[in-house]
Amino acid sequence: MEFKIAVIPGDGIGVDVTREAVRALDQIAGVYGHTFRYEKRLVGGCCIDAFGTPIQEETLKICESCDAILFGAAGGPKWDHLPRKDRPESGLAALRRTFNLFCNLRPAKIYEDLKDNSPLKAEVVNKGVDLMLIRDLTGGIYFGEKGTRQGKYGVEGYDVECYSAFEVERVARRAFEIARTRRGSVTSIDKSNALESSRMWRETVTRVHDADYPDVELTHLLVDKAAMELACNPSRFDVMLTTSIFGDILSDEAGVTTGSVGMLASAAINDKNFGLYEPIHGTAPDIAGKGIANPLAAIGAVGMMLDIAFGLKEESAAVDRAINAVLHDGYRTPDIYRDAPGQIRSTTEEMGVQTAARITK
Ligand code: NAD
Repeated sequence: MEFKIAVIPGDGIGVDVTREAVRALDQIAGVYGHTFRYEKRLVGGCCIDAFGTPIQEETLKICESCDAILFGAAGGPKWDHLPRKDRPESGLAALRRTFNLFCNLRPAKIYEDLKDNSPLKAEVVNKGVDLMLIRDLTGGIYFGEKGTRQGKYGVEGYDVECYSAFEVERVARRAFEIARTRRGSVTSIDKSNALESSRMWRETVTRVHDADYPDVELTHLLVDKAAMELACNPSRFDVMLTTSIFGDILSDEAGVTTGSVGMLASAAINDKNFGLYEPIHGTAPDIAGKGIANPLAAIGAVGMMLDIAFGLKEESAAVDRAINAVLHDGYRTPDIYRDAPGQIRSTTEEMGVQTAARITK
């Protein structure tokens, strides 16, 4: 099969890890007989330096003509003095806005050979952690009415949490559909004992479930309980579904259980299944240019793209097997290196080359 991919490395370590993600794609193409055509574009600080803007109109048009976007990371201290709308990060925001990428997917998985890197107790980790947190990305309190006003005690700030049934339904459908491809269970997280918007969230998720996804197991959990369960009993979760703000917090909590931000991939997709695939980390100015960034999050994002954007499940599983294998064989970038017997301290490139070499049928 043939696919066109917009490749946007961005700034800092985004460039290094995206190079290795493309290496993995090339290996998939060779092993499985696919063709990937790349449209490489500048977005972020590099685009400001080259063209005076964080993203060009032309880039948005090119992305529209592609089957998926592979993104590295954008930003850095060099551009921090700029007003918010002109900063590198607004290039990424423009992509999300233009393509209405309302559904954020954040898998968190503890690899067998990285169990010791998790801050969780061995007895918790040994039960296995492999969950997918699905979060609304464009609604709720971050995008609701906000401002300052005179209140009972003087000046006050306010932000409004508001969800329409439409917004809840579309993200819930994605969660149920993705659960069907995994272990068939969704935990919907809200604060329905205190918030009206959460009561509406719960009612809508239940209605969509009962009408169209009765085969998927649905459980509701309050967000405070969910935060505790993530630390004490994460193996209970398959798909977690939640709002923008709760998901923001819980996805970082889930992520930290895996041991390094350099292991965590993510995707943001729209209702046509078009999406942007990226590592969750930023440009890491402290290690940029040193060639030591962990590329496995970016390679994991390629695995997600193969599965979700292209429906290439076997190829996606091959990427996951390769990540498992390279870790099993001892390769470790400094963020996951533990100075234990059998571990090989690796550069970004070595990790990428060794991972690609393990992508086989
Ligand atoms: P960061 O994720 O870049 O770095 C946090 C810490 O994690 C650093 O110590 C870094 O060295 C380490 N780290 C991150 N990725 C790693 C990897 N692959 N391998 C090994 N170690 C890794 O977060 P930050 O320092 O808060 O942000 C730096 C810049 O990145 C800022 O300009 C921020 O705005 C931007 N940023 C961009 C995105 C994005 O483009 N999606 C996301 C987050 C931050």
